[in-house]
Amino acid sequence: MEMMCRLPEPSRFVIRREFSGHMRAIRTGRQLRAAVRAGPYCWPGGHQALYLTSDGGCLCHHCVVEHIDEVLASIRHDIHDGWQVSGVHTAAEFPDVQSCACCGTEFEIC
Ligand SMILES: [Zn+2]
Repeated sequence: MEMMCRLPEPSRFVIRREFSGHMRAIRTGRQLRAAVRAGPYCWPGGHQALYLTSDGGCLCHHCVVEHIDEVLASIRHDIHDGWQVSGVHTAAEFPDVQSCACCGTEFEIC
């Protein structure tokens, strides 16, 4: 009797939907990590990602990556200390926002 090794079809591999991508509303650490994995630019369009915080500030991608522990803790414990990211938008959507609240880097508006 011949033994057959059944491998799952490629379409049956499970890939987390929230593995990578910019979400307009971020409520969990998993969603934040997915946004960080997606990179500093949103597609389509290639505009710079802008992370809105619950206190109305804006952070750049670099600062979110650099302070990921503080951001994740603020999301997890619902602390409105300026690190709680509530969503990701593009810099083009907020032309009045000039720079990152943390490092002061000016956002690229194209
Ligand atoms: Zn920054």
